[in-house]
Amino acid sequence: RVERVEPGAAVLDDGTRLPAGAVVVGIGARPATAWLAGSGIELGAHGEVVADRRLATSLPDVYAVGDCASFPSGRYGERLLVHHWDNALQGPRTVAVNVLGAATGREPVVYDPVPYFWSEQFGRFVQYAGHHADADRTVWRGDPAEAAWSVCWLRGSRLVALLAVGRPRDLAQGRRLIEAGTEMDAEALADPARPLKSATA
Ligand SMILES: Cc1cc2nc3c(=O)[nH]c(=O)nc-3n(C[C@H](O)[C@H](O)[C@H](O)COP(=O)(O)OP(=O)(O)OC[C@H]3O[C@@H](n4cnc5c(N)ncnc54)[C@H](O)[C@@H]3O)c2cc1C
Repeated sequence: RVERVEPGAAVLDDGTRLPAGAVVVGIGARPATAWLAGSGIELGAHGEVVADRRLATSLPDVYAVGDCASFPSGRYGERLLVHHWDNALQGPRTVAVNVLGAATGREPVVYDPVPYFWSEQFGRFVQYAGHHADADRTVWRGDPAEAAWSVCWLRGSRLVALLAVGRPRDLAQGRRLIEAGTEMDAEALADPARPLKSATA
C-alpha cells in the first residue's frame, strides 16, 4: 500500500521508496446498494440498479437515477453507468415525466442523453461530452502542449465524443452535433481556428 507521496517518490507502508516523477491517482466508485438485496430490484454486475430506457427498475413504480443506476443507451447501443453530475441532473427529469405520465396515461419518455462532465484540473477547464468506446477515428484540434485544445472522436463521419480543454465553445457546439448525429468533415474539424459547427460534411 502507498503510505504517502513525497516530492519525487511514492513511499510504501513497508518503507520502500519508489522514485516517481508523476503520480496518477485513480479512485473508483461503487453504488451502495447492498440494502436492496432481496427487494426484487435487479442489480447489475457493478452492484448498480438496472433501469430500463424509461429509468424504471424491475419493480413496478420504482425508478432509479444518478450514480447508482445503469440504463440502456439507444444512442450508443450499450448499457451505460454514468458517474457524473449532469446525469444525476437529467435523469430525474425523465422520471418526473414518466411518473406523471403513468398517472395520466401519457406515453413514457425515453432517457437517451449524450453524457457530459466538466472538471477543473490545474487551472484548466476540462469538459467531455459523448462516449467514445466505439469510435474509429481521433481528430485533434490544436496542440495538447498548449493551454487550449480539443480532441474529437468520430465513428464513420459522425462525431460521437469530444474532450475540450479551455475551449468551451467547442464543447457547446460539439455536444449539439453529437446529439444530432451530424456528419462531419474530418479535415475541417482538425482546424482549431474554424468553428466546430462549420466543420460539417
Ligand atoms: C471526489 C469527486 C469529484 C467529482 N467531480 C465531478 C466533476 O468534476 N464533474 C462531474 O460531472 N461529476 C463529478 N463527480 C460525480 C458527481 O458528484 C456524481 O455523479 C453525483 O453527485 C451523483 O449524484 P447522485 O445524486 O446520483 O448520488 P450522490 O450525490 O452520491 O447522492 C446519493 C445520496 O444517497 C445517500 N444514501 C446512500 N445510501 C443511502 C441509504 N441506504 N439511505 C439513505 N440515503 C442513502 C448518500 O449519502 C448520498 O447523499 C465527482 C464525484 C466525486 C466523489
